[in-house]
Amino acid sequence: MLSRRRFLAFLAASAAAPVLSGCAVNPVTGRNQLMLVGEDDEIAMDRRQSPQQFSADFGPMQDAALNAYVTEVGLAVARQSHRPQMPYSFRVVNAPYANAYAFPGGSIAVTRGILARLESEDELAALVGHEIGHVSARHTAARLSSGTVLSVVLGGAVAALGAAKPGLQDVAGDVASLGAGMLLAQYSRDDEREADSLGMAYMVAAGYSPQGMVDLMAMLRGLSTREPGLVEVLFATHPMSDERFTQAQSLARQRYAAALSRPRRRERFAAATARLRAQLPALERLEAAQRALGNKQPAQARALCQQVLSFLPDDYAALVLLARAELAADMAQAALQSAQRARAVNPTEAQGAIVHGLAAVRLRRFAEAVQDFSEALRLLPENPTSIFWRGYALDAMGDRQAAAEDYRRYLVQVRSGPQAQYALRRLREWKYVR
Ligand SMILES: [Zn+2]
Repeated sequence: MLSRRRFLAFLAASAAAPVLSGCAVNPVTGRNQLMLVGEDDEIAMDRRQSPQQFSADFGPMQDAALNAYVTEVGLAVARQSHRPQMPYSFRVVNAPYANAYAFPGGSIAVTRGILARLESEDELAALVGHEIGHVSARHTAARLSSGTVLSVVLGGAVAALGAAKPGLQDVAGDVASLGAGMLLAQYSRDDEREADSLGMAYMVAAGYSPQGMVDLMAMLRGLSTREPGLVEVLFATHPMSDERFTQAQSLARQRYAAALSRPRRRERFAAATARLRAQLPALERLEAAQRALGNKQPAQARALCQQVLSFLPDDYAALVLLARAELAADMAQAALQSAQRARAVNPTEAQGAIVHGLAAVRLRRFAEAVQDFSEALRLLPENPTSIFWRGYALDAMGDRQAAAEDYRRYLVQVRSGPQAQYALRRLREWKYVR
């Protein structure tokens, strides 16, 4: 049994701030700055959180050639950065919305939704260059040190995922709130300016045309006026303004004028991304489906997913979203089947198992749910949604000891929200805590 003191110690251990390392020389400016987060902390934080975010974006595309292409471009740009020694890695994630992001250890993702809208390798180099700029200038670490960053980034807490009230009727609520961008750092406008300017320096040093950055900014600016919903998450994490476009343009014409005549690599990019760019109309519908589900319009989300699946019958993200929409529409049996299709298409990604488990909970098939969440936790260790709902299923089966262990593990990560309150209440009722 867990005494209260031990229980509190568990909580404290997970809440502990990274080891104090005081002042550090900023790799970009060369100046000393208050830095409480060391490089090891950045890498540890990255390893803990990036898999959760990649999974929330439906995992990496199962297209080895495309991932290898983005990796090749990314590493070429990263070699020119102020922190070439970081363990950079690159992947294309299945999410249909437009975004790119970096974790502080150098794990970087671009979504299908943004890659399909680029037109040259130079634009891709600019996009990953911007993210490498955030890593090089240690923006996340600096914001953690100044205490301005969301606590989410520190503890790996996914408090926002706990928005649903626990209980059988609320399983579906969990599904709609599994949105994108929960774990991403929010950068300031100054950070954005610096990342743009660093990104441009790195991509030009890697041999690309600075026009790639100008083209990228023009594309993003166009998206933000034509389809504001599509880039909400992108601009929540990377604020966009006309000023960024103007800055890119003047840097390209002045500081990097000599490189402006370099030919842009359009053919190579077109060849590497042909299949993906053909998906763009389907991706737009999938993005609309995700938004509809977030707005609690599951019927609309289902119809859109089914349209997408008529073009792309094996699309993992579409199958997972369809299962979530069915669950939200109180069609748990159909959700179970769609989730099973998703798992068959991509057995290495956890979201299929998670939504299968949620559907099983809804159908009161608790033993099956426990198996699903155990499988999800094998694929995606420490995922709080899987931990809570496995505990809930074990609880329903009367396995108090195993349920208490999962509730405790959940509370180590998430300390607010209805699910955390529910887990704590059960532990109190069982006298695991007072
Ligand atoms: Zn940014």
